[in-house]
Amino acid sequence: GQIGGYWWKGKIDSLNLEDRYFCDLKTTKDIHAANWIKQGDRNVKTNFVEAYGYYMQMAIYRELIRQTFDIDCIPLMFVISKQQPIPEVANLIFNEDDPQNPDVKYLMDDALRTANELQPHYWKVLMGEEKPKRCGKCAYCRYTNNNPEFILPTQIEV
Ligand SMILES: [Zn+2]
Repeated sequence: GQIGGYWWKGKIDSLNLEDRYFCDLKTTKDIHAANWIKQGDRNVKTNFVEAYGYYMQMAIYRELIRQTFDIDCIPLMFVISKQQPIPEVANLIFNEDDPQNPDVKYLMDDALRTANELQPHYWKVLMGEEKPKRCGKCAYCRYTNNNPEFILPTQIEV
């Protein structure tokens, strides 16, 4: 399907068009761990689903399925923690129609809007025409930064 006028390919773990749902499998260090994300110029504490961009992933999958099959599917996520010796499991449903919990719909809509807006930038990064914005924390950033500048100990981001 297309997001923001650009072609996308989704690789969904499992898809059930008849019963209108799809599933994604995830592992995470600790399902209840706090993760910090930047919102404007503030650092905000949130859970792993938002911090790892999973609302966006689920919203994009749902949109691609809608475009390809003309069917609205509910995203499900089956999560297992990496805690030893007893991992925790969580079964997540990204239900956007629950009036008691409108946040899921807001976060999914917001993530899809962001994906649409960033398409031209993503494409230019893919084509090598623009540099990606460094987060300074992920595996890619760690891999490509083996001689960082001096910072004050108070500048370490959490
Ligand atoms: Zn990074």
